[in-house]
Amino acid sequence: MNKFPHHDIIHSIKEVDTPFYLYDMDLLHTTLVAAKAAADRRGYVIHYAVKANNNHPILAAMRDIGFGTDCVSGNEVARSLEVGFDASMVDFAGIGKTDEEIEVGLDAGIFSFNVESLEEMEVIDELAGKRGKKANVSLRINPNIDAHTHKNITTGLSENKFGLDLTLLPKLVDNIRKFQHVSIKGLHFHIGSQITDLEVFKQLAVKASQLNDYFLNQGFQFEHINLGGGLGVSYHHPTQKRMVDFESFFKIFEENLTLPVGTKVHFELGRSLVAQCGILISKVVYVKAGLSKRFLILDGGMTDLIRPALYQAFHLTENICRDEEAEKYDVVGPICESTDIFGEDVLLSKSYRGDLIAIYTTGAYGQVMSSKYNMRDRAKAYYVSQGKLYSEESYLGE
Ligand SMILES: *Cc1c(COP(=O)(O)O)cnc(C)c1O
Repeated sequence: MNKFPHHDIIHSIKEVDTPFYLYDMDLLHTTLVAAKAAADRRGYVIHYAVKANNNHPILAAMRDIGFGTDCVSGNEVARSLEVGFDASMVDFAGIGKTDEEIEVGLDAGIFSFNVESLEEMEVIDELAGKRGKKANVSLRINPNIDAHTHKNITTGLSENKFGLDLTLLPKLVDNIRKFQHVSIKGLHFHIGSQITDLEVFKQLAVKASQLNDYFLNQGFQFEHINLGGGLGVSYHHPTQKRMVDFESFFKIFEENLTLPVGTKVHFELGRSLVAQCGILISKVVYVKAGLSKRFLILDGGMTDLIRPALYQAFHLTENICRDEEAEKYDVVGPICESTDIFGEDVLLSKSYRGDLIAIYTTGAYGQVMSSKYNMRDRAKAYYVSQGKLYSEESYLGE
């Protein structure tokens, strides 16, 4: 039987304009409500990591539920403000913030610049001084924790380009007192993405608490501590595990953080909020017989979804037009790159030219990473809510 949840809707469209992203806004809402409830229970604050998906309806849902944003570019900061997030709920990380980007944040008076080097701190101090302002900053510390995730998405080990290294902390403490135009409000961590081993977060909570103590002993009393994001989702069972267990995630921190009373605890979740609500729908252009393989050539490719090519990521694929005896296919895109492969030896219902293929768990780091390589058009987005289908414009017009 077909597991695809939006079967009737897709097949009700006469001319399906593939490839396109389909977002289940009801699932998104349910997910956000669950995340919010688990965080609220502990007084934790959630910032949505805009880089996971910046489509307007998705951002609007984050705003409406009361989350802030976590940004990694000046444009993401500007976008957050446009969509109506309060500057006091916007933070800004990234190792290469340019002067112009810093100015966007300074002018808005954002919640926090998450500073990743002393060199950056100097520039923020100088630019804030010129404007007669004081910038709110947090120190992004690299806690040297192995996130046990793909090497291309781990960010918390030593000699990673992100964050301030632990061995440099004494030097940091000596230096940061001299800055007149920054107000050091907190500590920030983000150790990687698609982390499924909760033990990693336990280590983070313990290490973060120790570091907070270290700074307290040096005379720094922080208002908040931000533990970043990284909570992983199920790419193998997207229809069974539609939501992550936010309760267990936050509980790990509740049990392992030892912070002074009154310290606000923040998180920056991206993938775990939006990954499952998105599905990429693509059409079979050809079923090509190889020597020993069979290639299912889709009209969607790495320009629409680059995760398989970039991180060898697995995405469950399914033929949503028929349910015949399964055969093995290499599911590939049309782009002139050998890495444009969604999966090798994938078991799928016997498939034919014109069939639609669903590629699951593509709400995060899917559409945002699309490109126009090979002069391709970008995939559109559709939204489904309460059994109705919407384009972006019609959804927001609701
Ligand atoms: C990407 C990113 C996040 C979100 O990571 P997810 O794995 O999507 O939850 C949070 N904080 C920072 C600083 C990031 O760069």
